[in-house]
Amino acid sequence: MTKTNQVCTIAIVGAGFSGTLCAVNLLRAASGPNLRVVLIERNTRHGRGLAYRTWDDNFVLNVPAGNMSALADDAGHFVRYCQNIDPAFNAGSFVSRRIYGDYLEHTLEEAAGESAQFERVQGEVLSVRRQQDQTLRLELADGQSLLADRAVLAFGHFAPLDPTPPSPFYRSGAYVANPWNFAALDRIAGDAPVALIGTGHTAIDVLFRLTSQRDARKIYLISRRGLLPQAHRMHPQSPAIGGFPVFFQNLEPTVRQYLRALRRTAQQRVAQGGDWRDVFNSLRPHTAEIWRRFPPREQRRFLNTVLAFWDIHRHRLAPVAHLRLSQMLKSGQAEAVAGYIQGYDEADGNVTIRLRERGSGCVRALKVGSVVNCTGPNYDITRIDAPLVAQLRDEGYIRQDALRLGIDIDDEYRVVDSDGKAAADLFYVGPMLKARHWEAIAVPELRGHAQRLAKVLVESGGS
Ligand SMILES: Cc1cc2nc3c(=O)[nH]c(=O)nc-3n(C[C@H](O)[C@H](O)[C@H](O)COP(=O)(O)OP(=O)(O)OC[C@H]3O[C@@H](n4cnc5c(N)ncnc54)[C@H](O)[C@@H]3O)c2cc1C
Repeated sequence: MTKTNQVCTIAIVGAGFSGTLCAVNLLRAASGPNLRVVLIERNTRHGRGLAYRTWDDNFVLNVPAGNMSALADDAGHFVRYCQNIDPAFNAGSFVSRRIYGDYLEHTLEEAAGESAQFERVQGEVLSVRRQQDQTLRLELADGQSLLADRAVLAFGHFAPLDPTPPSPFYRSGAYVANPWNFAALDRIAGDAPVALIGTGHTAIDVLFRLTSQRDARKIYLISRRGLLPQAHRMHPQSPAIGGFPVFFQNLEPTVRQYLRALRRTAQQRVAQGGDWRDVFNSLRPHTAEIWRRFPPREQRRFLNTVLAFWDIHRHRLAPVAHLRLSQMLKSGQAEAVAGYIQGYDEADGNVTIRLRERGSGCVRALKVGSVVNCTGPNYDITRIDAPLVAQLRDEGYIRQDALRLGIDIDDEYRVVDSDGKAAADLFYVGPMLKARHWEAIAVPELRGHAQRLAKVLVESGGS
């Protein structure tokens, strides 16, 4: 494919939520013939990405439908889509992730239609390099190459790093390194107990997957604190859009001060018969600003001391998922274990995990058949070996942020190179926006970023 001088080609690498919505917003914003959008996805389906490619209706969204519109300027878009399927759906419904994937495909279809401006490409991008004439050349695994004036990196999530401490066990067949590899999970045979390292949403997905066919299997969920996500309330309300929380105004930007104010406000709300969740929800539109108010020292303090508590209150489970989890915990089929893994011994087809329990300090041995790493996506680009990330990193096109939360970008989504210079032609959107905005991993935040990035691209000549 070649570039013509009259047309600006924008290549988007990755067609999960972020890349797809970047394409959708570009097509909605720029109707002129001067723009060409090429959306490249290594998997067969464009639009679904890692989170929404499941066909298993056991997995439901962890955000109510009323806050899951893919379009930042049309809050009711997803609810209307659901009501076309079944009028009983409403803004408080927790819909399956499969339906959400269908919705994303539909939204892309609706925006792209028969547009001559839009092209889908299937293939893995291995490299993006700037040429002498300043165009970008994207090399694909099948030998194709593509020229673009701008490229958007929307490559999403990477499998978790092996847990600490390092162990030769992480090369064993009894260890599943990638919790999103459902084929590997389904290969775990027999009724022997399974240990999941991690107690967040990834672990709960794996718990449900592993017990949907074998309901006698014991599952241990292990993390340092053993904290499990809280539940949404039964009848969630749409978050009220308000100004910057008054309880944070005029505070010194320290984690201690903010936490104290947050806790006090939540307690007051509960004492008045309200719900602490409303206090957390009121922060959502302002989280990026709050994050930026903290100096790096306080950001680090937050990550080291508060993150686990923040995550379980902020990223809640759908009531139906929470109920299922509670029943499994009550029956003893699932057990949350708080402790520090010391090592593994493998013999006779069994794995013994040696663990120092939090609090008591006692050493406990858990005998299991398999171990699944559910510690959450890896956002540390210095430790990602996917060919595209390795090439961009090793050749200095992108760099890690100081807190190792993602990719260093400027306010207009331009990636910052190893010399500290923002690129004019290379952009990023996706969960690694955490590096700049902290909470940027879920739809309610990413839809806004995708829309703003499309605007930046259009205004910088992409129409
Ligand atoms: C399991 C799970 C459940 C979630 N549930 C919810 C929820 O209920 N509500 C909510 O608001 N948020 C949820 N989220 C968060 C959020 O929706 C996702 O983080 C979001 O979808 C991110 O999309 P993405 O496109 O950036 O990344 P991804 O979904 O990871 O998509 C990236 C895409 O890029 C492709 N790709 C990568 N590299 C290349 C390459 N070199 N060449 C070509 N293609 C490439 C991948 O195949 C993939 O399809 C969930 C996240 C996960 C992981």
